[in-house]
Amino acid sequence: MTHSSPGTGTHGKAWRTTVPGSVDGTPLHLVDESHPVPAPGELLVSVQACGVCRTDLHVVEGDLPVHSPQVVPGHEIVGTVTALGVDTVTHFRVGDRVGIPWLRHTCGTCSFCAAGRENLCTTSRYTGWDHDGGFAEWVVVPADYALALPDGYSTAELAPLLCAGIIGYRALMLAELPPRGVLGLYGFGGSAHIVAQLARADGATVHVMTRDPVARDFALSLGMDSAQGTFAAPPQPLDAAIVFAPIGEIVPVALEALVPGGTVVLAGIYMTDVPALNYQRHLFHEKRLRSVEANTREDARAFLDICGRVRLQVQTTVYPFDRVPDAVRDLKHGRFPGAAVVVL
Ligand SMILES: [Zn+2]
Ligand SMILES: [Zn+2]
Repeated sequence: MTHSSPGTGTHGKAWRTTVPGSVDGTPLHLVDESHPVPAPGELLVSVQACGVCRTDLHVVEGDLPVHSPQVVPGHEIVGTVTALGVDTVTHFRVGDRVGIPWLRHTCGTCSFCAAGRENLCTTSRYTGWDHDGGFAEWVVVPADYALALPDGYSTAELAPLLCAGIIGYRALMLAELPPRGVLGLYGFGGSAHIVAQLARADGATVHVMTRDPVARDFALSLGMDSAQGTFAAPPQPLDAAIVFAPIGEIVPVALEALVPGGTVVLAGIYMTDVPALNYQRHLFHEKRLRSVEANTREDARAFLDICGRVRLQVQTTVYPFDRVPDAVRDLKHGRFPGAAVVVL
């Protein structure tokens, strides 16, 4: 070889999902191994921070099928480019700060990709599920799927923007909230608290339904219009609702809270079974129910562009790298408001 393989012989630590199972056990194990070498078209990134998303919990616990045995989870990665793979053509340079999100490959040729809907690509691949993610000191990413990051945020604040923020933004777009409309948010964690601020910045009225009294106080402190329990009726009918909590029983409750023609968006990749719906109560009057699957790169860039113009408050709970399992466990049990971020 005439080129030097970046980082050959250098080791790094990573948390691998040895056998998926309850995070109240020990599904994650810390390993020390040779760090990845970037292939042509890829960047080698030294991880500075990685957010903890509910999807990581579903990967670690086995709610999602195994796509890559012993995968390293984590897909809200902020890091520094330290090397480029051979023949990599990109505007990113060594030393740049980049974001690495969930979406890491689409085919570019299927009917969905051709229609600008690459989030539905039939052969898409994902960071921290199909390929090792950011609960590690080093990670590689295809340069075309790395993201430039806005100024004005700390490293820890940037991490939750990269999935919680982007998916929340897509959910809000799919909600098709009318100007100065009324939005309901079910659940108020890492994604919802970002969406709530986007909607408020656009003039929406925002009602929050969540089981956690601390999260309710947090919602009110961010200027939301009301906060009540998960199954309580909001103080007025909703033009749209976004369900972040992965609890199927919320779906009929949210549909019933809508105005005619309203939309319920399900923002999670996983949800417990939805109970039987009653056509008259839940669906008639042209109510719409739709899910969100991942995001396009265009969604990501549009959202991060807004973040550069509207300074969002991103509440983070920081964990050191050696406490990754605690961070995932605390997410499961709802032990912190906002978003958990592992900082290296
Ligand atoms: Zn495709
Ligand atoms: Zn995520």
